Amino acid sequence: METTTLENCSVKVALHIRPLISDERQKGCRECVSVTQGKPQVQVGSHSFTFDHVYGNGGSPSSNIFEECVAPLVDALFQGYNATVLAYGQTGSGKTYTMGTGCSDNCQTRLIPQVMNALFNKIEALKHQTEFQLRVSFVEILKEEVRDLLDTESLRKTETFNGHSGKVPGRSPIQIRETSNGAITLAGSTEVAVSTLQEMAACLEQGSLSRATGSTNMNNQSSRSHAIFTITLEQMHKLHSISSSNDTSEEDMGEEYISAKLHLVDLAGSERAKRTGSDGLRLQEGIHINKGLLALGNVISALGDEKKRKEGAHVPYRDSKLTRLLQDSLGGNSKTVMIACISPADINAEESLNTLKYANRAR
Ligand code: ADP
Ligand code: MG
Repeated sequence: METTTLENCSVKVALHIRPLISDERQKGCRECVSVTQGKPQVQVGSHSFTFDHVYGNGGSPSSNIFEECVAPLVDALFQGYNATVLAYGQTGSGKTYTMGTGCSDNCQTRLIPQVMNALFNKIEALKHQTEFQLRVSFVEILKEEVRDLLDTESLRKTETFNGHSGKVPGRSPIQIRETSNGAITLAGSTEVAVSTLQEMAACLEQGSLSRATGSTNMNNQSSRSHAIFTITLEQMHKLHSISSSNDTSEEDMGEEYISAKLHLVDLAGSERAKRTGSDGLRLQEGIHINKGLLALGNVISALGDEKKRKEGAHVPYRDSKLTRLLQDSLGGNSKTVMIACISPADINAEESLNTLKYANRAR
């Protein structure tokens, strides 16, 4: 039986190849990515790459991604491990589709809805012995600023004032803080306590909507920002005395508190920043986003280098807001899965190759 173990490696990398879309068919595109039968391996031109898993385009069916890559992280969350799922790839490669960020309905096959289902099923099964509390936050990082996607009040103000000045009025920007025990917190962000699947789904929908409407050009906006949907699970276990060697153990029954979080991240488009006009602001956005993806690549590559890690090598979390925010959920005791998304079309070959190289470096 094949089981997915995440124990020995802190970062797993899966490749998700989406089908050709109608736009690509209309342009007469051909497929340029081939999957080796029975192996998690792909070829683009003369280049060959091997990952932990390859989905789509003749690889494993996409419907296996949740069970094989993400369900183990949901289990880890219940055991108290922080975890992160990252969707990486150029704009149009299927990151949002795969994650389900930007979903309203009919998205049960996307990852975040599947995470929610699994979460509430587990809670239902365990609730007689454990008390659970769930909280959700949904933020995006744009131009190295953290923006709250669940704070409708401040978002409304932002929209009204955007045309008048570059400054965003309303609440002060969200601050990323580190507590004395190394936990990362987002000071000033909305955290919604949820107790049902419907409430959690409503947060996903509301935040996705905020992300899309926060800018005059929604494609630009969502391709330049990292969207981070975070589920925090708190558990209070009733402890039963097991020790018989200790006479006082029966009175020793107490409670065990566990808290852990799962970040589901729809990353900014990985394509090179292109100067589309004389708009200096837009160029700056591109530079900042590259900064986040660059820092992420460096962090993951530092984590993957076991020799360096044992020597206590520096992991450059502080180089960007993205890596800083994910610091306590990347590496260390936490579990990370990167899903590299690519288009199979020949017109995207160059960007697909860049994605494959980036993802390869993460292994
Ligand atoms: P990204 O978020 O990376 O910019 P999207 O998720 O928006 O990309 O996907 C781009 C387009 O491709 C959308 O029209 C989407 O519906 C389609 N698409 C993406 N992945 C798949 C898939 N696995 N199957 C079918 N269509 C897909
Ligand atoms: Mg997207």
